[in-house]
Amino acid sequence: MTWSGESPDFYRSIGVNSIISASGSTTAYGGSKLRPEVMDAMNRASNAMVNMDELNRAAGRVLADITGAEAGFVCSGAAGGLVLQAAAVVAGSDPAKMARLPNTDGMKNEIIIHKSHRFPYDQCYLSVGAKFVEIGDGRRCQPWQLEAAFTDNTAAVAYLFSPFVSRRAIPFPQVCEIAHARGVPVIVDAASFIPPRSNLRRFTAEGADMVVYSGGKAVRGPQGTGILAGRADLIEAAFANGSPHQFFGRGMKVAKEEIIGLVSALQIFVEEDEDAENERYRQMCQQAVDALIEVPGIEVSVEHDEYNFLIPHAVARLSREWNGRSRDEIWNSLAEGDPAIYMHNIGDPDALVLDPFNLNDEELGIVIQRLNEELLKQ
Ligand SMILES: *Cc1c(COP(=O)(O)O)cnc(C)c1O
Repeated sequence: MTWSGESPDFYRSIGVNSIISASGSTTAYGGSKLRPEVMDAMNRASNAMVNMDELNRAAGRVLADITGAEAGFVCSGAAGGLVLQAAAVVAGSDPAKMARLPNTDGMKNEIIIHKSHRFPYDQCYLSVGAKFVEIGDGRRCQPWQLEAAFTDNTAAVAYLFSPFVSRRAIPFPQVCEIAHARGVPVIVDAASFIPPRSNLRRFTAEGADMVVYSGGKAVRGPQGTGILAGRADLIEAAFANGSPHQFFGRGMKVAKEEIIGLVSALQIFVEEDEDAENERYRQMCQQAVDALIEVPGIEVSVEHDEYNFLIPHAVARLSREWNGRSRDEIWNSLAEGDPAIYMHNIGDPDALVLDPFNLNDEELGIVIQRLNEELLKQ
């Protein structure tokens, strides 16, 4: 199959084939395509030298302005932001404590978290030496369970907003109210919970003390960047613990051109017409649905909602009438094909999901054609 992504490029020169990601902004498949304007800004930034504290503070002001938070900081991906959130609530900006991490003796080091919010990235919170106090049984949680979890060692309450995460948690504003009544900050991971762009301001408005968003996912900033926004004193503490300062966060460096790239990408992102963008994605997905509708034994639809499919996705579900290969076999055939195609994985054993976020028209056409072939293959 010919595809212009296959043209000779630097990846090829070192023996790597580029792939087609119908998986959204999944980090493992390359994250996001960057906008030319952002690459241009990074290119120019890379050739001028700056004082990094000055740059970090200036970039932080832009992030604060866009998120409606008191302050902001460009961190090394949302995951790096989780580490800095934890460092900030455990050690603050006290250099004697900061220098001791991950030894947290004598510091408040408990982070309260819903059992239903435990997720693969939460090790980032623990890395600074914090430990979790879990609440609820994973399926439900009552306000009294949160109230009973506070101790003299509580450093923060963590809260997760993410697609396909259980919504059986105490409502976020209520968590903030309960925590704040005890003077405890609430730290939020909303890494991939944008768009809608309004979510950039929503959690801060609802009471979050710090929120982290990925810079390399929907925003299309450099893959290694994240957006940390929140209360001035806590962001100051995250900044103190972070690179280039020689404390716990020094291993999570963000380069000057990455900071400029993130700021530039975020400024463009918030100016974009979200309705028009969604309409374009919806049409792309409808094209896939129209092409697959005749395949016997599957149900295809465009799905878009405020919890799981944050932009329109094309979803093909193998129904009870399906008697072809398993969803995993089809998924693997696509991933092992030429070009390799990665579909979105939502944890549903019967769903093949197309996320249009990283597809151009040519790539969409190839994905649709390959899906059709694989679904019709016996
Ligand atoms: C993607 C993701 C992260 C990590 O974000 P990076 O910017 O890739 O570091 C953290 N938490 C959640 C919920 C995510 O979806």
